[in-house]
Formats: sequence, structure tokens, C-alpha cells
Amino acid sequence: MSLQQDLFSTNNFKEKPDKKKVKWLSHSAIEELNRCPRCFWLSHKEGIKQPEGIQSRLANRFDVILKRYFNSYREKNQLPPLIQGKIKASLKRPFKEAYFYKFNNDFGFYGKLDECFINENGEHIPVDFKTASSDPREKETLSAYQNQIDEYLFLLEENNLKVANFGYLIYFFPEMTVELSNGFPMIVHIVKIERKIKDIRKRIEKAVKVLQGPIPESSPDCNFCNWFDKVKKYY
Ligand code: SF4
Repeated sequence: MSLQQDLFSTNNFKEKPDKKKVKWLSHSAIEELNRCPRCFWLSHKEGIKQPEGIQSRLANRFDVILKRYFNSYREKNQLPPLIQGKIKASLKRPFKEAYFYKFNNDFGFYGKLDECFINENGEHIPVDFKTASSDPREKETLSAYQNQIDEYLFLLEENNLKVANFGYLIYFFPEMTVELSNGFPMIVHIVKIERKIKDIRKRIEKAVKVLQGPIPESSPDCNFCNWFDKVKKYY
């Protein structure tokens, strides 16, 4: 099933959107806009995406495995042993992955949570899994991850759910070891992200304005466009 089909077959809409008319933007789209408005415009207006190059899909595989692992404990109403004692909350039951916010008749914003906890006050805590190739315990949180948690809290709230003032990033990082006979040891590192921006409507509005305007300028320090400028005379 394609992502588009998947989105519109969920029951998460407060009102059923018009499939043809509404353009649904995600956290990744907003981050794309922050990196370069031109690439964002080309991608979401014309469907011209930057070439991906050779990319590892290992993180996607990890995500699927982790979701299944958490789901298996949801059925038992327990926290998975990998995070037991590290978090004071339970898994949301039933779990709903996708949440939507309709900005206007033409645009909306959606997010797909990896997991969601509920604390003792009945507040929802969004979770995103991160697979790290370098030790996450020594790194500052990227601004994109802060934005993501702020956006998920906004979406949950807009869907009439009580929310905590924070979310979690759960990092999974392969441990350096020579002993692999009993499985591949992973470091599980949990980072609590305090909510910074409550209302993310301005972000959506900015994205909508860009899409409704003419094609923006290229980002001056982008390697791709600089390369293209140099080679286009040979075409
Ligand atoms: S500068 Fe060009 S290639 Fe780079 S991100 Fe922007 S539009 Fe895309």
C-alpha cells in the first residue's frame, strides 16, 4: 500500500478530507523547507525530488522490528524490558500511528508516531525511535528532532488528547563488543525533549505561503545546485 493510500485509509481524520484537494505536509516536508525553500517547492509542487543516491535502508528495518517489539508488550499491558525502569508511563492502548490537522481547505499537516506513552495523569507522550551509528550519549539533540516532538504534541492536542509537556527520543545504538554469540548488544538511550513551541501553525503557514508563491531562490551553499550551475553549459 502506498503512503498516500495508507494515510487516507486510516480512521484518524476529524473530518474526512477531500483526497484530491488537500495537500498533506509532514515533519520531513517542513524540515525540507528549512534546508532549502526551492527544493521544497520543487518537491511538493512539481513532484521533482532530489536524487537520493545510495542509501542504507537498515534504519527502516530497525523501525519495523522495534514497533513489533513494542506492540507485543502492548498486548501484555507491560513496558518492554528494554525500557523498563527508565520511563514512568505505560504504552497507549490501542496505539494510533497517524494524526492529522487540517490547516485550511487546501493544506493539512500530519505526523506518524513511532510509539506513544500515557503517564499517570492520562497525558500522552509521543515517542520517536532513532537508530544511531555514533554514540548518541555524547551528542546534542538536533533542532529537527526538537521540532518533531513539538509537532507531534501539537497534533495530539489538536486531536483533543491531553498531552504532557514533553516527548521522548529513544536511541538504539550497537554496542562495541567482540562478544556476539548471545545476540547483538544494543545501547538504549532515552532523551526527554521538553516542549518548546506549542503552536506550530506558523510553520505550516510558512510552508503554505512558499507553495503558493513563485519558485524560490536556490540555497547558495548547496553542493547540488552549485554543481548543476557549473555543468549546465555542457548540456
Ligand atoms: S540549492 Fe538546489 S539542489 Fe540544493 S537543496 Fe536547493 S534547490 Fe535543491
